Amino acid sequence: MLTRRGLLQGTAAMSLARGAKLKRRTRDVDVVVVGAGLAGLSAARELQEHGHSVVVLEARDRVGGRTLNHPLPHGYHGDLGGTWIGPTQTEIAKLAKELHVHAFDQPDEGKQVFYGGDGVITYDDTTPLLGTAPPDPTILPDILAAIPLIDQLATTIPVDKPWEAVNAGEYDRLTLDGWLRTVAVGATDKFMKVVSAAFEAIAGAEPREVSLLDALAYVSTATDGSTPGTFERLINTRGGAQAQRFVEGSQMISIRLAERIGMGHVLLDNPVYTIRQHSHGVEVVAEHVTVRAKYVIVAIPPTLAGRIEYDPLMPSQRDGLTQRNPQGALIKVEAFFDRPWWRDNGLTGAAVSTLGPAKTTFDVSPQDGKIGGLLGFVGGDEARRFSGSPDALKHAVLSNFSLFFNKGKPIPKPTSVVVMDWTREAWTRGCPVAIAGPGVITEYGPHIARPVGRIHWAGTETATYWHGYMDGAVRSGYRDAREVGAHL
Ligand code: FAD
Repeated sequence: MLTRRGLLQGTAAMSLARGAKLKRRTRDVDVVVVGAGLAGLSAARELQEHGHSVVVLEARDRVGGRTLNHPLPHGYHGDLGGTWIGPTQTEIAKLAKELHVHAFDQPDEGKQVFYGGDGVITYDDTTPLLGTAPPDPTILPDILAAIPLIDQLATTIPVDKPWEAVNAGEYDRLTLDGWLRTVAVGATDKFMKVVSAAFEAIAGAEPREVSLLDALAYVSTATDGSTPGTFERLINTRGGAQAQRFVEGSQMISIRLAERIGMGHVLLDNPVYTIRQHSHGVEVVAEHVTVRAKYVIVAIPPTLAGRIEYDPLMPSQRDGLTQRNPQGALIKVEAFFDRPWWRDNGLTGAAVSTLGPAKTTFDVSPQDGKIGGLLGFVGGDEARRFSGSPDALKHAVLSNFSLFFNKGKPIPKPTSVVVMDWTREAWTRGCPVAIAGPGVITEYGPHIARPVGRIHWAGTETATYWHGYMDGAVRSGYRDAREVGAHL
């Protein structure tokens, strides 16, 4: 019998699979899936439902990958990885509903905070176009010029083939930073710091690290195809990608998916080291098991796919892609309190700041608000600066919270503070998504999801809608299940 606590920690699933990992053996199935994140599990379940036999090989001792629940007092829990869903993220919403994982609205009553280096201003996020973007008059002209321009250019990017955009070559020569400073708006220093704050949270990267084409492609996929993707949808709470959270935590979706698949088919503690391909099938060598199958779906980030040994070698452009698609750098710092005290000051707990390390923050209190939670996103340069120094980071983030939400005065003592540094996770290597610098998408992009013989690639990085998000991960799994299923 699985206990609620065990489920939340993913350990029940681990113990169920424990027996499967003790001695090395060989399994024969139709399809082997590498990675028990949302993409791999979605693919596996879909194939299984169509009558195909599957095994999922997972390196960690838990499922869920970049989603991770964190147990809190009184049966609540936090999300240390992927957290929110929003409009047009229809596949993750449908899947969660089916698995009885319940969505609730992100608390958004009150004012947001902007700190631009010269005092805190508060504002509400209902202004059309601006949403959560700060209405500071010194940066407003740049914001009002840049956002519509980004949205308009994003409509010219084909979601499934950004490398075929009419101006792909030009957009892929520039970094987002260079384009904003010299072409788009001749941006002020303060505006660029705000862009940096947004990008650190959205992509775990600085605007100088991504090509303009990568940034535009990211915006273009923020949709289910019913309407163009927009930058506002990425950053907004109301009507945006931060609209809802899950009562049971987002990792519960993967835990329940794995249970549906059957833990005898999801083998934990099994990092895959080698994939051999023959004319009639594949042989996938993991820590404790070798699986022979007709096809393999590799549902892991590109940089980790590049660390697997392939026989025969990958074509050079596929190999080149995995050498040039690093994960962003992102750390979550979550502080929990007896109550959400910032609401007494009329504040939502959401902030945008030019001062780090936590340059964007959110309220992550449970639905009923009986305990309080504040999240600070620490990304890009700030993540690199603080990675490996959790105590200094906690101290700096708590002082951000004091500045943003309590006029710089001492804040109530947290009951706990958690630091989750995704750059130090061997089986993720950074978060939330892979990024592409100049020249990568036009030269190597076509190889992101192109099968190599019997090897198919899934994972949110291969998604054409909501690339980088949980929704995209699920969609990529379904796509590969359809593609592979058609060959079986
Ligand atoms: P993963 O979750 O990375 O799954 C890959 C799996 O493969 C992992 O379990 C890994 O352990 C395993 N693996 C890796 N290498 C091997 C190997 N060699 N052998 C076997 N197994 C291997 N998305 C949202 O929608 N909303 C959000 O609010 C949001 N916020 C985020 C915040 C953070 C801090 C992070 C980290 C991510 C966030 N995301 C968010 C992104 C979201 O979590 C991911 O897009 C999604 O979970 C990716 O799923 P995936 O299955 O593609 O990859």
